[in-house]
Amino acid sequence: MEERLQTLLNEKFGKNLDTCSQEELFQVLMILTKEETQKLPQNQGNKKLYYISAEFLIGKLLSNNLINLGLYEEVEKVLEKHGQKLCEIEELELEPSLGNGGLGRLAACFLDSIATLGLPGDGIGLNYHFGLFRQMFEDHKQKEVKNPWISQESWLMRQPETFQVPFKDFTLKSVLYDIDVPGYESGCNRLHLFDVDTIDESLVPEDSIDFDKKKIQKNLTLFLYPDDSDDDGRKLRIYQQYFMVSCGAQLILKECEDKGYDLHKLNEHVVIQINDTHPSMVIPELIRLLTGKGFTMDEAVKVVSKTCAYTNHTILAEALEKWPMDYLEEVVPHLLPIIKELDERVREKYTDESVYIIDEDERVHMAHMDIHYGFSVNGVAALHTEILKNTELNNFYKIYPEKFNNKTNGITFRRWLLHCNRELSAYIESLIGPGFKKNADELEKLLAYKDDEKVLEKLAQIKVEKKLEFKKFMKETQDMELDENSIFDVQVKRLHEYKRQQMNALYAIYKYLDIKAGNKPKTPITMIFGAKAAPAYVIAKDIIHLILCLHDLIENDPEVKPYFRVLMIENYNVSKAAKVIPAADISEQISLASKEASGTGNMKFMLNGALTLGTEDGANVEIRDLVGDENIYIFGKRPQEVIDLYAEEAYCSKDIYKKDKLIHKLVDFIIGDELLAIGDKESLTRLHKELVGKDWFMTLLDTREYIETKEKIYADYEDQKAWQKKALVNIAKAGFFSSDRTIKQYNEDIWHLQ
Ligand SMILES: *Cc1c(COP(=O)(O)O)cnc(C)c1O
Repeated sequence: MEERLQTLLNEKFGKNLDTCSQEELFQVLMILTKEETQKLPQNQGNKKLYYISAEFLIGKLLSNNLINLGLYEEVEKVLEKHGQKLCEIEELELEPSLGNGGLGRLAACFLDSIATLGLPGDGIGLNYHFGLFRQMFEDHKQKEVKNPWISQESWLMRQPETFQVPFKDFTLKSVLYDIDVPGYESGCNRLHLFDVDTIDESLVPEDSIDFDKKKIQKNLTLFLYPDDSDDDGRKLRIYQQYFMVSCGAQLILKECEDKGYDLHKLNEHVVIQINDTHPSMVIPELIRLLTGKGFTMDEAVKVVSKTCAYTNHTILAEALEKWPMDYLEEVVPHLLPIIKELDERVREKYTDESVYIIDEDERVHMAHMDIHYGFSVNGVAALHTEILKNTELNNFYKIYPEKFNNKTNGITFRRWLLHCNRELSAYIESLIGPGFKKNADELEKLLAYKDDEKVLEKLAQIKVEKKLEFKKFMKETQDMELDENSIFDVQVKRLHEYKRQQMNALYAIYKYLDIKAGNKPKTPITMIFGAKAAPAYVIAKDIIHLILCLHDLIENDPEVKPYFRVLMIENYNVSKAAKVIPAADISEQISLASKEASGTGNMKFMLNGALTLGTEDGANVEIRDLVGDENIYIFGKRPQEVIDLYAEEAYCSKDIYKKDKLIHKLVDFIIGDELLAIGDKESLTRLHKELVGKDWFMTLLDTREYIETKEKIYADYEDQKAWQKKALVNIAKAGFFSSDRTIKQYNEDIWHLQ
C-alpha cells in the first residue's frame, strides 16, 4: 500500500508521502481506490436489476469505498506514519448533490446493499453538473447557488456507449459516465449517469441558479429539479425525464441483445424498479422501442408489464406527477400514441374514471401508468403501504390487490455506523464481535449489556466525543461555538411544512420566553436545524428565515444563550448528516401523522443512539414497535385522526389560535417587536398569516402536546443512566433498518434475482 501510494504520487506529481499536499494525496487515493474497485468481479447472474431514479444522493465516496474494499484501516495507518490524517483528506472530496433528500439517499443506500449482497443490479440516472443547489445563508435567508462537483479527477468513468434520443424538434446524442459501486467485502455494480456533451456550464452565473430554460442542448443536465414554477421549467423536467428513461431503456435492451437474450423473454432477464414517478416514461418508451423491433403492441405491453415495478414514496398530492398532454406533445410526441393506447386499454376494462391514465383535463397520471403496467407496487413503510391500500390508491388496490406490497426503507450501516461513528462501531465490536457488520440483527446481542453501568457510561462518553467533533466542525465552517455538555436536539431533513420545522420553531419561542421568565433548564439545550427549501417554496423559505432570526435573537441575548441555543447548519447534505447525527441526543421526527411515507433520518439517529421524539408516522411506528413505548417519545394526533380531519375538512387553525392563549402568544411572537427588529417583515408576516389562516399541515394541532413531550424528554435526560439504557436499546434494535434487509425483501418478493 505504502509503495503504491509513493509510486502514484511520484508518477503524477513528482512528490512523495512526506512532500505531497493534502489535495495531491486525495487525488492519488481516489485513483488507487478506483483501481482496486476495478479489480472486483462484476456481480453477475441470469437476471439483472436496473434501478432507475432521478436522484442518487451518493455523498462523498472515498472513505466509504475504502471501507467496502476493506482498505480503510490500512490506508489510515500508512497516512498516519507520514503525519497525514485520512479523516482530513476525505474532507477535500466535493460532494455531489445528485438528490433532494430521503428518496435519493435511499437509492444510494440501495446501491450499496445490492452490491454487498452480490446481486447484479445497476443504477440509472442523470449526471447533473450542478446537482440540486448549494445553500448559503445571507441576511437570515436561504440563498441558492450552483454546486459544481465534477472535478478533473473524479469517480466518473466515461464509457463508449452513446444513444440517440429523439425529441420533437431535434435528437440528442447521449454520453455515459459510470461510477463503480463496490459492495462491502463483495463484488461490484455500477451507477450509470447519462449526459450530453453539449452542456454549457457558463449558462449559469457564479452566484445563482438561473439560466435560459429553453436551450435544451446546453442545459439538459445542469440541475436536478429545475424550477418548475413556469412552463419552460416544467417542460425541461419532461426533457430530462425522457432523456433518462430513453437512454436507460436503450442500454437495457442493448445489454440483453449483447448477451443473446430473446427480448420476448425480457422479464426473465431484466427487472426495472421505477423509483417514484420521475422515470415512469420508461414504460411507454420500452414499448416504443420493442414495437420498433417488430413486436406487436400486445406482445410489447405484455412483456414490459412483467418487467417493471413501481415504488411509491409519498401520498402528498403535489408529488404525484401529472403531465399535461400538450406538454408531452411538444416534447415527446412519439410517446403520445402509446400512452393513449395504454389509457384506452384501461378504459376498455374499467368504468371507474379515477383509475384512468389520462384524466378529463387531458393530464397524464404517471403513477396510474406505473400501477396498471407494472407488476408490483410498493410503499416504503408499513403504515404508508396501509394508507396507500386503504385510502390514496384504494381504487387500484381493489383492482390489483396482488400487486401491492410493503418494503420498509433501510439505510446502509457501512456509511451510517461504520464510517460516521467509528468510535461507536469499534466499541460495539469489542462487546459483541464483528458479526453485526455483515448481519445487522446481531446488534441485538447488545441487549445483554443494558444494565451494565460501565457500558452505559462508555456510550455517554462516545456521545460527548462525537459532540466535540461536531463542535470543531461548526467552529471551522460557520464560526459557531457549541457547548458539548448541552443536550443536542436535532431536526435535519428537507424543509417542508408537513415535516413541521415550524412546530419546532414555536417550541424554541416557548423556551426562549420561559427562560426570560426565569425558568432555566437544568442542562443547557442546543437545538440544531439543517434543511434546504425548494427555491420556489415560499413558506418553506419563510420558516428558514424564522429559524435564522431566532438564532440571531438568542445569540445576542446573554440571559438566554448560556442555557438555550438555536442553530442552523448551512447546506445540509450527506457529509454534514454524517457529522451531526452521531452527536445527537434527540432525533426530531415530528411530521404530521400520515404524511411522512417512511423517513430514513429516523433510522440513522436510532442507530447512533439518539432517542426519537416523534409522531406516529412513517417508520417511527416500526421503531416504536421494536424498542417499546418506554424507549421512544411519541406524541400527537394519530394517522387516522388526521386522515379524518382532512376528509371532513374539520381542522381550523384559527380556532386553536383563538382559544389557546399559549399558542396565541407563541404564534404572535413571529410578528412581535423582537423578531421584526431582526428579520424581514414581509416574510414573517406571511408565515404568521399562513399559520393562523391556513396551516394545511396542522402545526397547531399538535403544538401543545409537543411542548409537553419535549419538556418530559429534557427532564428524562437528567437521569443519564436511564437515558443511556434507552439509547442502547435503540442501537440494539436498529438492525431491522439495515438496507441489506430491505434489499433482501425486494429480491425475495419482487426481483427474484438468482
Ligand atoms: C437521510 C437523509 C435525508 C432524509 O431524512 P428524513 O429525515 O428521512 O427526511 C435527507 N437528506 C440527507 C442529506 C440525508 O442524509
